[in-house]
Amino acid sequence: MLQHLSKYINDSRDDLVALTQDLVRFPTINPPGDAYRPCVEYIAKRMKRSGFHCEFFTAVDYPGHTDTYPRINVVCRREGKRPGKTVHFNSHIDVVPPGFGWTFDPFGAAVHDGKIIGRGTCDMKGGLATSIIAAEAYIWCFPDFSGAIEISGTVDEESGGFGGVAYLAEKGMFSKPRVDHVIIPEPLNKDRICLGHRGVWWAEIETHGHIAHGSMPFLGDCAVRHMGAVMERFEQDLFPALAQKQTEMPVVPEGARKSTMNINGIQGGQTDGFTGLPSPNVPDSCKMTIDRRYLLEENVEDVRNEVVSILDQLKLSRPKFDYSLRELWSVEPTMTDRDAPVVRAVADAIRDEFGKEPDYVISPGTYDQKHIARIGHLHDCIAYGPGVIDLAHQPDEWIGIEDMVQSAKVMANAVHVLLSHKL
Ligand SMILES: [Zn+2]
Repeated sequence: MLQHLSKYINDSRDDLVALTQDLVRFPTINPPGDAYRPCVEYIAKRMKRSGFHCEFFTAVDYPGHTDTYPRINVVCRREGKRPGKTVHFNSHIDVVPPGFGWTFDPFGAAVHDGKIIGRGTCDMKGGLATSIIAAEAYIWCFPDFSGAIEISGTVDEESGGFGGVAYLAEKGMFSKPRVDHVIIPEPLNKDRICLGHRGVWWAEIETHGHIAHGSMPFLGDCAVRHMGAVMERFEQDLFPALAQKQTEMPVVPEGARKSTMNINGIQGGQTDGFTGLPSPNVPDSCKMTIDRRYLLEENVEDVRNEVVSILDQLKLSRPKFDYSLRELWSVEPTMTDRDAPVVRAVADAIRDEFGKEPDYVISPGTYDQKHIARIGHLHDCIAYGPGVIDLAHQPDEWIGIEDMVQSAKVMANAVHVLLSHKL
């Protein structure tokens, strides 16, 4: 490690803690998307101090945007002395609601036992603060650097990132030549590199029936029983088939190293929205929402066909069976190459800081990398940041202060490698 870079970061420990606390104290809860404006204004004010040029981007036509809850993002850029590559650190500023079970104030950001505790400490304001300190340290130690460094604070990651990274990617903010390397400081642990994520396919299956009096069900056709038949085929055929599909992707946890499907919800008949006694009816509609996570070795057409073929077979074999399928959304799996410059730079920095080989992992769920890959067509992107992923969205979420310090050194070192053309 470059000694002066390391010393600067050690000396910035209190600043790193205070910065994290300040960020956590903005209750940027999503939904609805509270306190976004003061939070991004705070980030801009901070970055301007270090010579960054900061711009705000408001996604007015995107889900959730209102005057009360503006979808406002900030992108801060610091040009070096000469042209060169750009390293971008992207963090989402939104957090999930605190929920129950807290023994600390979720937005108090108390320091306790070497940790900062609060909603968003780990996921991912601690990572954002860490990347800011890393960038400032690099600029201070290498004032003549070439290229550029960017820090962004973006919204709505927890609800799909459409008004955040997707919107900015559509504006070219995550494409070459503007940006070359992207690090997303999500809490994947200080010595792990997250190369990407599995794919997603969400769909709603509806079985159709015929309404009749519940005392004479033989005069109707029960959509819930039809859905029961779908479920049976899923249990007998689909789930075992999914469990057989192993991937080369290093997904963590281990259980996610195969294809999975969650039945997210099921609804049929008069199950909602009334009080008192139900009236006796044969349900004529039943809906099931499925959340299928797929692998790099699969494609979305095969994923869809697996389900459709089961439904079509039922149509042939089961009297009066009829269905419709509505696709809700999908995300392609993505995995950055291990030889990509950003991966090698961070891997070298991890070896340097911890004296061990980094672990390479894939996230079971998606995060904003999907938009950078699909819309920005930029594939030199990873998630790397301090914090324990298991703590995300939990009560008494925390981030370790020493983990942040070490991670800042890894980030600053990686920036140095990437901007000085050492790869
Ligand atoms: Zn996150």
